[in-house]
Amino acid sequence: MFRLIYPYAYLDSVFDIDYEKLRELGYKAIIFDIDSTLVPHGADTTDEIDELFVYIHNLGLKTLFLSNNSAERIQDFNRNINSLFIPMANKPHKPNYLKAIEMLDVNKDEVVLVGDQLFTDVLGANLCGIKSILVKYLLHEHEQHLAIGKKRQVEKVLLKFYKQRFPNIKKMR
Ligand SMILES: [Mg+2]
Repeated sequence: MFRLIYPYAYLDSVFDIDYEKLRELGYKAIIFDIDSTLVPHGADTTDEIDELFVYIHNLGLKTLFLSNNSAERIQDFNRNINSLFIPMANKPHKPNYLKAIEMLDVNKDEVVLVGDQLFTDVLGANLCGIKSILVKYLLHEHEQHLAIGKKRQVEKVLLKFYKQRFPNIKKMR
């Protein structure tokens, strides 16, 4: 059961992912969560994020935003990026993960998902047989002093356990 909520790799941020290596490993597409993965929840895109996607697209990798947030939020975030996207994705339920693969026109083993939550992003990916990369969740500055929620606390314990058991988790194999 635990396997279902564990990611393939765990990195500090989307800027630590070796996208060239992913391409070398045969990946053709990346599915991204937006909120708390690319920017804090509900925040606008940044120049760094826009540039990151230019870089990823120039490598020949396709992208798709799979978000539980609204179409308006994603369209606005996506205005300079021009990625495929699915709003109101109802993660971790499978249908929109499978729709994402179809829209990207790739096989399951040619796509990797990047997200910040074990119980939505990673669980759904595992249920569909898609590899996932977990990144540390981003908070707004005003949230950083607040106590973290129950779900985040559980995630923290699980990740600690996982890192002890699988010390290579941080490396992309
Ligand atoms: Mg998120």
